[in-house]
Amino acid sequence: MSSAAPEILAPVVLAGENWEAYAACRGGNPELFFPLRESKKGAPTELAALAIAVCEQCPVAQECLEGALERDERFGIWGGKTTTERREMVRQRARLAARSR
Ligand code: SF4
Repeated sequence: MSSAAPEILAPVVLAGENWEAYAACRGGNPELFFPLRESKKGAPTELAALAIAVCEQCPVAQECLEGALERDERFGIWGGKTTTERREMVRQRARLAARSR
C-alpha cells in the first residue's frame, strides 16, 4: 500500500442544460437574490452581499451569469453580479467586440 496522500479531485460539474440542479441557491430564500434596490452607486446592498457570498461558492456561477446576460435579466443577483455590474459587463463586451471588428 502506498503511503502517499490520497489524491484530491476537484469536483466535476456535469451541468450542461441542467445546470440549475447544481445551484448553490437552490431551495434558498429568493428574497436574498432579489433585493429591492442597489445602493446609489450600484454597489451591492448588505442583503445582496449575502447573496453574492452564496454565488461565490456556487459551482455553476458562470452558467448562471451567462444565462442572465443572454436573457437580459433586469433584476436580482445572477452569477454573483448585480444588475449594475451586469450592465457594465454587457457594455464592456460590446466595446471589445467593436474593437475586434
Ligand atoms: S450563481 Fe448565485 S444566483 Fe446563480 S445559481 Fe449560483 S447561487 Fe444561484
